Amino acid sequence: SNPIHIIGGGLAGSEAAWQIAEVGHRAVLHEMRPVRRTDAHHSQDLAELVCSNSFRSDDANGNAVGLLHQEMRSLGSLILRAADAHQVPAGGALAVDRDGFAAAVTAALEAHPNVTVCREEIDGLPPADWDQVIVATGPLTSPALAEAIAGLTGAESLAFFDAIAPIVHRDSIDMGKAWFQSRYDKAGPGGTGADYLNCPMDREQYDAFIQALIAGEKTSFKEWEASTPYFDGCLPIEVMAERGPETLRHGPMKPVGLTNPHDPTVKACAIVQLRQDNALGTLFNMVGFQTKLKHAEQVRVFRTIPGLENAEFARLGGLHRNTYLDSPRLLDATLRLKAEPRLRFAGQITGCEGYVESAAIGLMAGRYAVAEREGRTLAPLPQTTALGSLIAHITGGHLAAEEEAGKPRSFQPMNVNFGLFTPLDRIPRNETGKRLRGPEKAALKKRALTDRARADLAAWMSGEVLPSAAE
Ligand code: FAD
Repeated sequence: SNPIHIIGGGLAGSEAAWQIAEVGHRAVLHEMRPVRRTDAHHSQDLAELVCSNSFRSDDANGNAVGLLHQEMRSLGSLILRAADAHQVPAGGALAVDRDGFAAAVTAALEAHPNVTVCREEIDGLPPADWDQVIVATGPLTSPALAEAIAGLTGAESLAFFDAIAPIVHRDSIDMGKAWFQSRYDKAGPGGTGADYLNCPMDREQYDAFIQALIAGEKTSFKEWEASTPYFDGCLPIEVMAERGPETLRHGPMKPVGLTNPHDPTVKACAIVQLRQDNALGTLFNMVGFQTKLKHAEQVRVFRTIPGLENAEFARLGGLHRNTYLDSPRLLDATLRLKAEPRLRFAGQITGCEGYVESAAIGLMAGRYAVAEREGRTLAPLPQTTALGSLIAHITGGHLAAEEEAGKPRSFQPMNVNFGLFTPLDRIPRNETGKRLRGPEKAALKKRALTDRARADLAAWMSGEVLPSAAE
């Protein structure tokens, strides 16, 4: 049969090629380096790590990315195998010798009898006789290919920049201070009139907050990022604060149309609003809070907001060059472009974030491609697993459904985190049967989530039919 073509030999493309080749199908991997370079890569190795050398936490019982490592290992991941073989000491994290790691991935693929590596840029839509293609060209997809993809998806469905506001775990917000209410109780189609979480500030708190935003340490743009202008409507919050002390309370923090039920007589000086970010209602984003403050500064400054003193962040804000698709609207459940199903997407271009997540989506794209080639259908991955949660985030279709209900929401890239998992039915208790609080409760909850994930992944792997994620 025809080979499966993979464009881009980064984290995702390398993993996809391996998954295909290991089960006896032919894979042709097209990588443009060194013929053409990107602004971030330095070598000609496959799976080059462009920045940090860390794959983050390796704790499979207490951390979603650690669990994802474990799931990928059990599915024969090349990226994890090479990472494990080239580990450097990093406490509980999985960090690697970057050159040894990338060289190992490159050597494994070049030596594989079912893999052909072609060093060339694919600068437009692939030839018509490539009947199955995986596009894994990453956040820095070459402009010619990006343009061809935009021609299929519509320019508005391919982003070149991510402007991300922090996302908070709902159960870490203090409801003794915050409350649910939409501005002027507007219900809107599909809404209840109480769709937003609100955190009030008095004058003193607001003034101190503005000062902290202006003084806070920022990350700078890379030279090549700086040439991309801010888009209207996604100015960093600190840039707005610099325009004048009252700018934010007349903008995203305006206190109008909202009444604090904890203290209805007091008029707030400013109000921070958070909007539901996932269909499960476990994550909320801080409306208008895209920022270039350093991560530690964000945690420090945003925890001064009343109600967010103990906030746990599923992701922090940022602004980066990043090419990614509006996947929930464009891709089907097996990552194929609905408008041209011979093209399947993988890696960061699908709207996941991070080395491990990109490789994980590459792993699944490879498996979906093989199943399609063999005329089989893979059972959907349960949304109780790390892999299934990521796939659901990307392809879930929940955003499209919400759009139909008149509540459009933009799709933003995200790392794997427990907020993407189907919530537990029951709050875990310890052996004494007592309900727990604080860190002990959080640890027990993570353990219950990861145990459930292992059981469900094992069942999925053994071919058992599991209930769909919606149930
Ligand atoms: P990549 O690993 O970038 O692979 C894409 C490959 O496609 C590249 O090798 C590229 O040369 C090739 N390519 C592009 N266009 C074409 C074409 N037309 N034809 C042929 N080949 C092509 N994540 C982290 O977890 N930690 C970090 O510290 C981190 N730092 C980052 C820093 C920067 C500057 C950027 C841009 C991203 C960073 N990321 C980081 C995010 C992301 O996880 C990585 O970029 C990751 O490598 C994405 O994997 P990928 O396979 O999707 O893309």
